Amino acid sequence: MASIFSRIIAGEIPSYRVAEDEKHYAFLDINPVAEGHVLVVPKHEVDYIFDLPDDEYAALTLFAKRVAKAQRKAIPCKRIAEAVLGLEVPHAHIHLIPINCEADVDFHHKVAVTPERMTEIAKAIADKFE
Ligand code: AMP
Repeated sequence: MASIFSRIIAGEIPSYRVAEDEKHYAFLDINPVAEGHVLVVPKHEVDYIFDLPDDEYAALTLFAKRVAKAQRKAIPCKRIAEAVLGLEVPHAHIHLIPINCEADVDFHHKVAVTPERMTEIAKAIADKFE
């Protein structure tokens, strides 16, 4: 059965898309730890990120770098933090989280963001993506 992320990529489940190319898809985390929390996913469905073939792992990292640059332009923050967990969804993905301090990367602390604001943030990041 396809992962929830494959279903998002296929358009079967809605998402707040921020960037896409032939092999990758980036969208807002639906349960963010900070405003502008993005997930970057390879379209090739592999569960564990470190099982990706080297070229696909490298390409995913480079795509995430482009997304992080767009996030930093769109969202006031000191840096974009990168994290890999993969405990919930068995489809490799990178978390990109705008932060101002260490405490901003706390996966036990979620922030409430309205659908209108999620749409606004996704568009702001998408507009800066190069
Ligand atoms: P993990 O697999 O532990 O890295 O966590 C998976 C992440 O995916 C969590 O932060 C969830 O909030 C996020 N997530 C799960 N389902 C969706 C969805 N339909 N749209 C956006 N983000 C999701």
